[in-house]
Amino acid sequence: MDFDAMRERMVAEQLMPRGITDPKVLDAFRKVPRHLFIPPELSLNAYADYPLPIGESQTISQPYMAALMTQYLDLAPGDKILEIGAGSGYQLAIILEIAGMAYSVERIQSLAEGASSALKRAGYNNFRIKVGDGTLGWEEEGPYDGIIVTAAAPKVPDSLLMQLKYGGRLVIPVGGRFSQILTLFRKEKTGVTLKEICGCVFVPLVGRQGWGE
Ligand code: SAH
Repeated sequence: MDFDAMRERMVAEQLMPRGITDPKVLDAFRKVPRHLFIPPELSLNAYADYPLPIGESQTISQPYMAALMTQYLDLAPGDKILEIGAGSGYQLAIILEIAGMAYSVERIQSLAEGASSALKRAGYNNFRIKVGDGTLGWEEEGPYDGIIVTAAAPKVPDSLLMQLKYGGRLVIPVGGRFSQILTLFRKEKTGVTLKEICGCVFVPLVGRQGWGE
């Protein structure tokens, strides 16, 4: 299978026509081998325009949704980023192509381990993943230039806003259990601003400042 060609087509057909314009983001999607982050029997669908199951009732987001969130994170080289919900590790790989160092919290141990080994196999070393409740963030490593939450929250967790630097961005789906609004928060010295981006559907963020079990 020609995965390079499949990636090129994904970028040209799914990302560029829908408004993903940041060259750093497009390059990251051209580079990261998405097929290494999904169950091998789904390799043929690795670059398709929809989410895929990754086990434990969790999903890897549709490429466009991952790209949109990355673009709103507004990453710069050297940025320190926190992700909540490592899942397959794919979104973290995209971030690592652009930012300096990234941390991720994942509540399901088997996914955290799978993500870590997929990332290493794909050649990434500038990351750390821990098992725990990401609604509380990862305080010891903060503050962060950007935080991305890849599961759906009933409201934005205070801990995450606290762990964001001034000038930092937080991208998170907020809303009901079955549909949400992708939302961008910016933290400035004068306060926090909010921009609603679009409707979306994510698996629930389960934890102290998220949904119940
Ligand atoms: N970013 C992932 C997609 C993850 S799906 C990827 O690129 O593949 C959402 C993930 O969030 C799931 O793996 C789920 O286990 C995790 N999750 C849900 N609630 C969480 C919490 N409170 N803390 C950490 N991870 C959580």
